[in-house]
Amino acid sequence: MDRPIAGTEGQSFDGGCHCGAIRFRAGGPLREVFLCHCSDCLKLSGTSWGASAAYKDHFHYLTEARPRWYRSSQGAERGFCADCGAQMFYRRDGRDMISIAPGAFDEGEMLYVGGQIFRHSHPAWGPVAPADILDLDTPDHANRGQRKMPDDR
Ligand SMILES: [Zn+2]
Ligand SMILES: [Zn+2]
Repeated sequence: MDRPIAGTEGQSFDGGCHCGAIRFRAGGPLREVFLCHCSDCLKLSGTSWGASAAYKDHFHYLTEARPRWYRSSQGAERGFCADCGAQMFYRRDGRDMISIAPGAFDEGEMLYVGGQIFRHSHPAWGPVAPADILDLDTPDHANRGQRKMPDDR
């Protein structure tokens, strides 16, 4: 896993959608939250979306209800609650990880934002994210090897 959150390995974190129909448990390690400002995220969530991630092997549902999956682009799909519409999950074909929206977790204290992608394609009303969040997809950023952790700010 790229950019795991220290201290989350071996722990489990519960969450669910707004209406409660879908509940899940994700085992650590959890990945840092990446914010995404791409056009798919804007259209689907109404604004920028973001997600942590967990290994699929460490993820299971606590309810019989399952998300509805929508193929949002070639090679990827989004999972949401068909009852309340909560956009909770993203997964790419063939990957062993599932992305989980930070707000879907019951407690978010263990999470922090590690970076953002597609910031420069965000329309003029944004970007909504602070400029001091690391651009993960900017080719010329020189600080990739010395990323600032939140404690350093
Ligand atoms: Zn729901
Ligand atoms: Zn996106």
